[in-house]
Amino acid sequence: MFVSCFNRLIIHVYIFMERQLVYLDNAASTPVDEAVQEAMSACQRHIFGNPSSVHEHGRRARVEVEQARRTVAQCFNVAPSEIFFTSGGTEANNAILWGLARDLGYRHFITSRLEHPAVLNPLTAMQQHLSVDVSYVDIDQKGHVDTAHLERLLATYPKAVVSLMHANNEIGNLLPVKEVAKLCRKYQAVFHSDTVQTAGKLKTDIRRSGIDCAAASAHKFHGPKGVGCMVVLREQFFKPFIRGGTQERSMRAGTENVCGITGMARALEVAHQRMTQDQEHIASLKKACIQLLRAHIPGVTFNGDAEGSSLHTILNLTLPAGVDAEMLLPGLDIEGICVSSGSACGSGSSKGSQVLEALGVDPGLPSVRLSFSKYNTLKEVDRLVAVLRKICLK
Ligand code: PLP
Repeated sequence: MFVSCFNRLIIHVYIFMERQLVYLDNAASTPVDEAVQEAMSACQRHIFGNPSSVHEHGRRARVEVEQARRTVAQCFNVAPSEIFFTSGGTEANNAILWGLARDLGYRHFITSRLEHPAVLNPLTAMQQHLSVDVSYVDIDQKGHVDTAHLERLLATYPKAVVSLMHANNEIGNLLPVKEVAKLCRKYQAVFHSDTVQTAGKLKTDIRRSGIDCAAASAHKFHGPKGVGCMVVLREQFFKPFIRGGTQERSMRAGTENVCGITGMARALEVAHQRMTQDQEHIASLKKACIQLLRAHIPGVTFNGDAEGSSLHTILNLTLPAGVDAEMLLPGLDIEGICVSSGSACGSGSSKGSQVLEALGVDPGLPSVRLSFSKYNTLKEVDRLVAVLRKICLK
């Protein structure tokens, strides 16, 4: 009783202090936009029917879901019938990869060692359970895919599936999507791209990009957690990963997360309406952060292609030797700065970042991933740099 009251008190103290926290972990998750909260609470209040029910309340829920589907489809420039709502990016990636192998008979998958666990782990399981083969494309020193090697792999394994993420969630590197799509066409391969980090941040015209299948997740662009979608262009339809009813045109069973779907659509709509101004603001924060870190922390290095072909929201850096790598994140946390060392999905694991390891970054040196959103300010960047400087001088 006492412990639970004490815990609640601590949570309230934290909530009270929240305004002073600097949140730079937006690649892990983002705060929900106010317009999204409003849309979701209106939905929670008025829409409670099951979209599969044929009566008026069911029909209202169906209309809500289908309107959201149209909005999402418009943002990605695909047909509404090519959007399938899921519980998020992990499920979308799993459903696509398993579906392509199990139902459409693809036997060879080409990916990179820098992919998210939501792609690498299903591929490993598929090697065991479906006897598929997986090849890993080489990456260069900056973490970009070696497209010449990709072409050699495609020539060796025609009609493969290529699974390469649009932007890397740890270092932000961007994939040359059109070039990869062109190679996939040439060798009749299917192109799957995990677009979880770029959906809502870059204008991704999936139809024109040449991507066949993509995954998105609402909580990465100021929408709710637990909802996302897969985009599957018409020729690739497969059987459901989750079996049950005939929801989502038999591609994903289970009663739809109606208000989550509403929230996702509203979040994507807001993101697209404000995209240029948000991109400019966030890119200026990233640029200022790089300049300030260089000026105040001699020896700091940036991982990946931070100042080249890189997503504006992500910056990965390594501090010079002398800072206790294990204590860096707790040290920043004590100072009220929320960042992470890499993928949130890998942060419970005792292993270091596989992405940084593949890039040859010394695991003994302290590295952090900063990820910005439209809500961050230059003042917060100043504070981060001052705290990092203090940590480095200790
Ligand atoms: N793919 C990438 C690139 C991600 O960054 C993430 C989340 O960190 C996921 C997939 C998983 O998405 P979700 O949290 O919606 O399952």
